[in-house]
Amino acid sequence: MTATLQWFGTATWRLEVHDTVIWLDAYINRSPAAPPLPYRADDVDRADYILIGHSHFDHIADAGLVAGNTGATVIGSELSCEIVRDEGIPAERTIVSSGGEELDLGPVRVTTFPSLHGFNGLKEWPDPQGRDRRARVAAMRASQPELAEASLAHMNNVPEKQRNDGGPLAYVLEWASFRLFWHDTPGMVRDSWKAAAARGPIDLALLSAAAAFSTPNIDGEPVDDGAVPFVTGMTSLLRPATVVMNHHDDWCPPVTFHLDEEHFRPGIEDQGSTLRVIGTGEIIALE
Ligand SMILES: [Zn+2]
Repeated sequence: MTATLQWFGTATWRLEVHDTVIWLDAYINRSPAAPPLPYRADDVDRADYILIGHSHFDHIADAGLVAGNTGATVIGSELSCEIVRDEGIPAERTIVSSGGEELDLGPVRVTTFPSLHGFNGLKEWPDPQGRDRRARVAAMRASQPELAEASLAHMNNVPEKQRNDGGPLAYVLEWASFRLFWHDTPGMVRDSWKAAAARGPIDLALLSAAAAFSTPNIDGEPVDDGAVPFVTGMTSLLRPATVVMNHHDDWCPPVTFHLDEEHFRPGIEDQGSTLRVIGTGEIIALE
């Protein structure tokens, strides 16, 4: 069974298994300062299902638009489903999950797990130039003032409901002999990750390590050493053949910056997994 996966930056992916298209998050119309994506949310012409990891705008913003244009069914927390219903998606095309459900979506069996959000604003990580958010904003305002203001407005003008996480979910997607793990914010519930691994060997784990302003969260405790030990810890529980990072890109400059994947390679390889680095818009074959 042929399957492909395409990265749309942040934690948004387009998964196609045989003839079924499943979006993992739906944040496509990003800040004008972010690196461009292959196309706009308005141009998405195929989606059978949209899985939402959590309800923040940088995960759900375009789910209602895409579901409205394609007829897709949206799966997510109560709040995530409410957000797309508010945008006109009929209730029968939403499936509320609180973690623990199994769903058959075409050829793909999806299992949901309770997860956690990273701690936003608890601690700020300096970018590779040693700058904090304030310094990055000042630099961009000086060099590209209009772009800086447009990008900051993009982040600030968010619908109220999309400022709440709604209770994050993690997902395992299985088809043929392939098993994919995905979550979309740097938080982990140990029991959920163990249960995900207990389903069988994970071929690919899409692991979140939001840079800049999010401190990783394990069972409600902050990981003060940052994203690297957090990703290593997730890898040791999941034991995936391959790890691909997500939510580590420069999705809303000047607030964000790209966190170099190579920081994570030694910890991931110590666990016997392979780190694969892919770029925004890139399509990879899964087999
Ligand atoms: Zn979030």
